[in-house]
Amino acid sequence: MDFTLRPEQEAYLAELRSFGEKELAPHYRADDLAGTLRPDLIPTMARMGLTGLRVPERFGGQEADAVTTGLAAEEIARHDFNACYVLLDSALVSDILLAGATEEQRARWMPSIASGATVPAVCLTEPGQGSDAANLALRADPDDDGDGWRLIGEKTSISLGMYTPVGVVFARTGGPGARGVSAFFADLTDDRLSRTPLDDLGSRSIGRASLYFDGVRVGRADMIGAEGEGFVAVMRGFDYSRAVIGLMCLGIASAALDDAMAYAREREAFGRPIGTFQGVAFPLVEFATQIRAARLLCYEALALKDAGEDPAVPANMAKWWAPKLAADAVHQALLTFGHAGWSTDNTIGQRLRDVIGLEIGDGTAQIAKLVVARHLLGRSTAP
Ligand SMILES: Cc1cc2nc3c(=O)[nH]c(=O)nc-3n(C[C@H](O)[C@H](O)[C@H](O)COP(=O)(O)OP(=O)(O)OC[C@H]3O[C@@H](n4cnc5c(N)ncnc54)[C@H](O)[C@@H]3O)c2cc1C
Repeated sequence: MDFTLRPEQEAYLAELRSFGEKELAPHYRADDLAGTLRPDLIPTMARMGLTGLRVPERFGGQEADAVTTGLAAEEIARHDFNACYVLLDSALVSDILLAGATEEQRARWMPSIASGATVPAVCLTEPGQGSDAANLALRADPDDDGDGWRLIGEKTSISLGMYTPVGVVFARTGGPGARGVSAFFADLTDDRLSRTPLDDLGSRSIGRASLYFDGVRVGRADMIGAEGEGFVAVMRGFDYSRAVIGLMCLGIASAALDDAMAYAREREAFGRPIGTFQGVAFPLVEFATQIRAARLLCYEALALKDAGEDPAVPANMAKWWAPKLAADAVHQALLTFGHAGWSTDNTIGQRLRDVIGLEIGDGTAQIAKLVVARHLLGRSTAP
């Protein structure tokens, strides 16, 4: 078993660390207060290769493996958790396209993902369903010309929904259940689409939104995979993105713990640094230990993906564990700061708000545990 990074991974990480410190961290709080991603963020990230990680080189991307994508997500999230949504959606959609799109479709869509011109949204959740995604209601009705569809219905809770010009939209083209769902790469600049921003507790800059489709047209050439295969495609993608999300959460939690440890070395109480009290040091050590273990789980999932094996079990284990662990670790870090942790001058409170969002986004802990239970217990004996 080899835990070392390749020299090019080390070099890329060092570059990303310096980029994160200079270009991301200084804006993390300001973007939250403004409630928007600053306009130069996506082009800046694209120049660092962060939108094209999973895009093949022939389409202008990095063609990075899944482990390298996870390393990048973990590092970026340390500096600006919300910027990492740009990386996450670009990578997830790239993988959906690699799994389900034709080469001609990839050539049409992937260069602009790599260049950052279009960071695609993933449009699955609806007001009436989230976890029970196979029962989505948004309709794709056949268009009059017989060569396309009209999308009718509402998606909600869509990350980057206020900004993105394109999205992978899951819609019902057939009967009930998963086999009636198809996936489309849709133009979201269509004037039959309207958007409403959501007023969120955290990740306020990512423009989570409700999208109303009032007959947005998609053609046959916009369908990803065959009719009725959309749901299967996204579920495969989620198994991979769940490990990347785990690393995003562990990245922000590690940064919070590092800050808390630095504070514990400096802050004095009763005439000594607070780090010399076991009650301060040991909880930080316990979280550092668990974060290290959870990272291994995430990277195991990504290494399996790179080896062409099924990452579902460790990826879904990572999805229920890592965001919860990260939220608890950031909470502990906040308490280490005492009264200073409660001030919005300290970004630790924002980190806590932000990381909780990914206990829900991309599937809750219960749904991830359901997937694992089906693998470990067998479908007929799982909940
Ligand atoms: C920050 C953030 C970003 C998001 N980004 C996107 C995005 O880009 N695109 C997108 O499509 N969606 C996105 N979502 C939506 C997210 O995927 C859904 O919120 C999530 O899948 C849960 O669906 P729901 O909110 O409808 O909850 P529900 O499905 O209504 O569930 C409510 C509660 O019941 C529990 N529950 C439901 N069914 C079961 C069961 N069978 N067993 C046990 N417990 C169960 C759930 O775990 C949850 O605690 C995002 C959400 C957040 C918070």
